[in-house]
Amino acid sequence: MLEGLIQDYQLTLPTMLRRAETLYGYREIVTRKPDKSFHRYTYADFVSRAKKLAVALKRLGVESGERVGTLAPNNYQHLEAYFGVPVSGGVLHTINPRLHEDDLSYIVNHAEDKVLLVDGTLMEVLESFWEETNVKHVVIFDHSEDPVPNGMTSYEELLADADEEEFAYPEFPEKQAAALCYTSGTTGRPKGSLYSHRAIALHSMMVALGNTLALRETDCVLPVVPMYHVNAWGLPFASTLVGAKQMMPGAHLDAYSVIENLEQEKVTLTAGVPTVYIPVLEALDEEPENHDLSALRSMIIGGSAAPKGLIQAYKERHGIDVIHAWGMTEMSPIGTVSTLTSELLELPEDEQLDYRAKQGYPVPFIEIRARDEDTDEFVPWDDETMGELEVRGPWVASSYFNTEEGAEDFTEDGWFKTGDIVSIDEHGFINIQDRDKDLVKSGGEWISSVQLENALMAHEAVAEAAVIAIPHEKWDERPLAVVVLKEGQEATTEDLQKHLQGDFAKFWLPDAYEFIEEIPKTATGKFRKLALREQFEGYQFAQS
Ligand code: ADP
Repeated sequence: MLEGLIQDYQLTLPTMLRRAETLYGYREIVTRKPDKSFHRYTYADFVSRAKKLAVALKRLGVESGERVGTLAPNNYQHLEAYFGVPVSGGVLHTINPRLHEDDLSYIVNHAEDKVLLVDGTLMEVLESFWEETNVKHVVIFDHSEDPVPNGMTSYEELLADADEEEFAYPEFPEKQAAALCYTSGTTGRPKGSLYSHRAIALHSMMVALGNTLALRETDCVLPVVPMYHVNAWGLPFASTLVGAKQMMPGAHLDAYSVIENLEQEKVTLTAGVPTVYIPVLEALDEEPENHDLSALRSMIIGGSAAPKGLIQAYKERHGIDVIHAWGMTEMSPIGTVSTLTSELLELPEDEQLDYRAKQGYPVPFIEIRARDEDTDEFVPWDDETMGELEVRGPWVASSYFNTEEGAEDFTEDGWFKTGDIVSIDEHGFINIQDRDKDLVKSGGEWISSVQLENALMAHEAVAEAAVIAIPHEKWDERPLAVVVLKEGQEATTEDLQKHLQGDFAKFWLPDAYEFIEEIPKTATGKFRKLALREQFEGYQFAQS
């Protein structure tokens, strides 16, 4: 091999932070504080505090590779930890405060977190589990009103005592671990994905590509997706790399606050799960003339399927482009993005919408294939044949952290098995039909709960819909649709059945509809199908 004559430059977070310091010191970072007022400072302030945090962590005894947990909403302190922890050589472990206390102590112990950085608003959550852990230091992001309990450290005091002059940008190998995220446990015990500096640097560059999210300095980015949900899809890292203005919503994720943030800060790109943007759409629909979201160029929706009706409604009624994306904790997380290619942009609007509603095609350096579970063969890219999606790429996990479990999720040739059942079309666009275990298996055929849910949620009276499999004597399983109606709206079983007819094979139509007040959700805002299945255990269809 003739080796190229190129510098062996390592892709690390210290170099990203140094770049931000050198070039973007003037750029703003805005946070919605617990009392809903706005905190503002610049990248220069942010970098200075992140460096102080790195110095302070060293003083607390955090050594290279040791884990520092965070328990906080999207705010500037959390952003400081995003960089301060990894540039100190430590590993940033973001923890989802909405998890059950048993999961919280399990995760903190499994990760062996040495220090926890906890937002002052989450003391109750902290108290529910931390005595079950071996954490050495608890540091509180203090908001002036809450005193720090005995035995814990004030974040502000910690920073005040740290000398920025002691900080020197370290040089370390790009393969070093930088961040750790646990899967939210939709499928069994939480398992950790351990990201390297290189993976985060490359994922950030990918997010800035024109074909993906096209992030740039002139953007103002509002991640509604929490920083404890797969690093807010990498947006805080990517925004810092390109010097975009950042708008952190704090814990205020209700439609009203989100809209206020979007308008006031002239946000250009926002991202989150469908359950956040469904109420935002309803609120906008109520008084469209009172809102000006003309600065907003992209609304990235992922985490679970963005219903086609939602994408269409945003575009038609509010001129907002929804970009559908798919990813996983094991993928840092972005894998596919539904930006249309030149060829697809020539199609009529309604056909374009079909592609926008798919999860998109793989971003650069992510490769995909889908395998038929029965034959073990790869399925053709014919938009019909379903198979389990497998992926590989420079920000895809190679195994789980500190466990033998989940070894079966990786193929012999090193691809990761996603557990998502997809079809792939000739353009490489994937259509997620279901999670492996959520498919309804009826009479030897598969019924996609996701497709039925999306179609139901396109009905004007439906706020949320989840379809689950109910055991059936004759057909093995049959679909039950669980529906939440919009306030003040009505729809009967017949209305909904009629709405679906024509779009689906007859055997796909739900055998029954149940109307409930609310669909239980996971800690990351997805429908908790497991809980629904429990709720409807033993369910009998009227005529079956
Ligand atoms: P968990 O696996 O704990 O639910 P993740 O956030 O890693 O947490 O979830 C990844 C899963 O979410 C994917 O495997 C897929 O099933 C689902 N998902 C993510 N984005 C989409 C999307 N755009 N459409 C449908 N499903 C999605």
